Amino acid sequence: MSLHQQRLSKSKVAAFEHCPRRLWLQVHRRELGQFDEQTLALFQCGHAVGEMARRRYRRGHLVTETHLEIPAAISRTRELLAATDGLPIFEAAFERQGVIVRADILEPDHWGGWRLIEVKNSRNVKAYQIRDVATQAWVLQGNRICISAIVVRHVERPLRLNSRNATVRFLDADVTPNAQRLVPGRETIVMAAGVVLQGVEPAIRPGPHCVRPNCEFRHHCYQDVEAAIGPE
Ligand code: SF4
Repeated sequence: MSLHQQRLSKSKVAAFEHCPRRLWLQVHRRELGQFDEQTLALFQCGHAVGEMARRRYRRGHLVTETHLEIPAAISRTRELLAATDGLPIFEAAFERQGVIVRADILEPDHWGGWRLIEVKNSRNVKAYQIRDVATQAWVLQGNRICISAIVVRHVERPLRLNSRNATVRFLDADVTPNAQRLVPGRETIVMAAGVVLQGVEPAIRPGPHCVRPNCEFRHHCYQDVEAAIGPE
């Protein structure tokens, strides 16, 4: 079925691109991850912003099947795509070569194609977000979905936990050329991620990359460094 035995979500591909050791730990030693309260609050705000973005549409179809029901989510997505009723689809699910993605918003362009929209609770578009939408586009194109635009829908001011009732103003950044440029390289990245998962924990030393973005395994990796250095 795939280039590797392990199924990968788009966030696992992103973890690999951040640091191969992070992907390995997420899959094989997940229990070592430590999320601080601030990170958990950011997750919650991200979900809230995603819901707000959906509520902007008067009508649309939400694929409600969870990450534990991927075959059902994929089959529901196929039904909705075939319906051609001109409505957006939220959380559409696709698989290509073992990589599973959920598209935040698929908006019909009314020319037979779709606008792929990724919603982010961030003020600017980040490089890793473009890699993320490129992974999605690669999977969708493998499913013969015609994508006419790739958009990161971000916010003017990021939502914080203490401002959950605040009004959010969305801004669309069309990243189509930048993301499409990355699409042909996605297969190589997915294969490399599969190879890492079949091996032992990569011996990558922690460094500045561990906080850009924050990695949940810093405690684990820095413990190794401290053990190697020994007591002062
Ligand atoms: S803490 Fe740093 S080295 Fe360790 S997995 Fe995370 S990003 Fe990689």
